[in-house]
Amino acid sequence: MDHSIGPKSLAAFDRARALIPGGVNSPARAFGAVGGSPLFIDRAEGAYIFDIDGRRFLDYIGSWGPMILGHACPEVVDAVVRAVGRGSSYGAPTEAESELAEQIIDAVPSIERVRLVNSGTEATMSAIRVARGATGRDKVIKFAGNYHGHVDSLLVAAGSAAATLGVPDSPGVTAGAGGDTIVLPYNDVAALEEAFNQHGSKIAAVILEPVVGNMGLVIPSSEFLNSLRSITEKAGTILIFDEVMTGFRLAYGGAQQRFGITPDMTTLGKIVGGGMPLAAYGGRADIMDQVLPAGKVFQAGTLSGNPVAVAAGSATLRILKEESPYDSLDKMGDRLSEGLADAATAAGVPHQVQHVGSMVTLFFNPDPVRNWDDADRSDREAYARYFWGMIGEGIYMPCSQFEALFFSRVHTEAMIDQTIDAAKKVLASF
Ligand SMILES: *Cc1c(COP(=O)(O)O)cnc(C)c1O
Repeated sequence: MDHSIGPKSLAAFDRARALIPGGVNSPARAFGAVGGSPLFIDRAEGAYIFDIDGRRFLDYIGSWGPMILGHACPEVVDAVVRAVGRGSSYGAPTEAESELAEQIIDAVPSIERVRLVNSGTEATMSAIRVARGATGRDKVIKFAGNYHGHVDSLLVAAGSAAATLGVPDSPGVTAGAGGDTIVLPYNDVAALEEAFNQHGSKIAAVILEPVVGNMGLVIPSSEFLNSLRSITEKAGTILIFDEVMTGFRLAYGGAQQRFGITPDMTTLGKIVGGGMPLAAYGGRADIMDQVLPAGKVFQAGTLSGNPVAVAAGSATLRILKEESPYDSLDKMGDRLSEGLADAATAAGVPHQVQHVGSMVTLFFNPDPVRNWDDADRSDREAYARYFWGMIGEGIYMPCSQFEALFFSRVHTEAMIDQTIDAAKKVLASF
């Protein structure tokens, strides 16, 4: 197996490991799930990322979702440079924040008011607090394999790096913090009905990824989404779509627009910050007006609505609205998915390719993946072989079976075809 990590990246990882836990500032980056040492990055441009050994890779991580316009998009870079020259933080309101809020409210069907925060974790943490404050109830339902950031109460049966690294329930999360969280299997309407029959009047919120990216790509059944909406409405429970990954990715208005289901609250991150640390939560005005200083639910942030991050987010949304690349991204997603499936079929490798738009997962699994138990039966070792094979071909895929790949509006048909050819070669060697 050619691990293909250059000497500079290896040395950089040794240095980092003595300084930073595990050598990384977020666990998904450490390549732990595929065994080996991560590439250290020098720069990125368009569809490509360059490591410090001077090698170029076609990038299918895109910073785990934000880079839908491609890396170093000139308009976004200009907006950031202009903003930072005017001072990088004031701790006071700006008109640019209202501009971005207008863009978000215009885009996302469920959002009438929105609060800007700094990370997806903060967005989901705050949304849960507001839902509890607004309903006066304690319990929250989440789904196994869904990831909502490292919020204590949601770090139970969590996806993404938590699943990848085998700590879906983290040490340090107290029984109290997790005790009001009910975990259900995804796509299981009977389990949802049963939970509401038992606890209905105590459930403040249901939070979910409306298309899951964090256990690999898992698609919700329309029965599941419809039941979620009708059951929560009947019970007076707040339905929260965690669209940190899917917002502005699966449609300009996110998964809720794509599937025509309107939740009560929505969390956003990744694309909304255009590659800068910015996220948001919003929803119905009567719910959001519970937040201080309009209401009494406390939530604050020294750098929230940071002018540099707002400039990046605002420029990104402006381009997405003007260009509306979603039809083209859908076509490319179909092309990539069919190509990867054909490559696996030709090689006789048991597989499922699941995708929505520009989010795709090749599962090394003979059966459809509808929930975490299905995902967990995938062949992680086969995924690791595939990952390193693709690295050898100059293609940077997500370093875990339980992460979706992302591509951008600057990934061309030729690049997609090159990726399919590489996959054919890699899978044929299995
Ligand atoms: C990435 C992600 C988060 C966490 O966002 P951070 O900015 O990493 O804190 C939350 N929910 C979903 C669905 C995500 O994909």
